[in-house]
Amino acid sequence: MSARILIVEDEPGLVMTLTDMLVAEGHEVDAAPDGPAGLRKALKERYDLIILDVMLPGMSGFDVCRTLRSQGRDTPVLMLTARGRVADRVVGLKIGADDYLAKPFAPEELSARIEALLRRARKEPYGPLERFEFGDVTVDFEHGVALKAGQPVPLAGKELQLLRYLVERRGQTVSREELLRSVWEYSSGVTSRTVDVHIAWLRQKLEDSPQSPRWIQTVRGVGYRFVP
Ligand code: CA
Repeated sequence: MSARILIVEDEPGLVMTLTDMLVAEGHEVDAAPDGPAGLRKALKERYDLIILDVMLPGMSGFDVCRTLRSQGRDTPVLMLTARGRVADRVVGLKIGADDYLAKPFAPEELSARIEALLRRARKEPYGPLERFEFGDVTVDFEHGVALKAGQPVPLAGKELQLLRYLVERRGQTVSREELLRSVWEYSSGVTSRTVDVHIAWLRQKLEDSPQSPRWIQTVRGVGYRFVP
């Protein structure tokens, strides 16, 4: 199971050991040497897993994790805590870390935890949604009703399906081809232009500034992404 993993850790020796191990297991590895750099990367790039040290220069691993979660990023986080600091583990799990490992640890143990987290993340994608809120918008997919700032927003069937598809995969880039296949089922006369037009309508109706959308973002050359 190959994954993209970010290591946020300030001990170069440990970064090197972990990188070698993870690369040998077929993963793609990126690293950041301090809290702010780790947070920047975690917000900007897409990773399947983040290995996050607690004691970091600039910003603690707790703050990095807390900020990620407050921005709606649910990338699995494995925290590296100091040995015997039970309080660290409790705090870590409370602020949204998925697992923790006390230093020093055996590489095999880290490897096993990583595989477990990746398996769990892959088995539990966002399920079908009945209702979703973002900004001042509430969408009731079940009944096909949307409200923006308390006012009803009429959404056509395809707009609703398209929004739902993106929201259920929030944080992921979805290609136009995938949308054509899944939302339009390759109906005749439908082209990628159709997708773009429907996206524009959704932005008109739901975004505060449709020209520079906050939620429904364009991924140039590929498609779209709902950014939670
Ligand atoms: Ca450290």
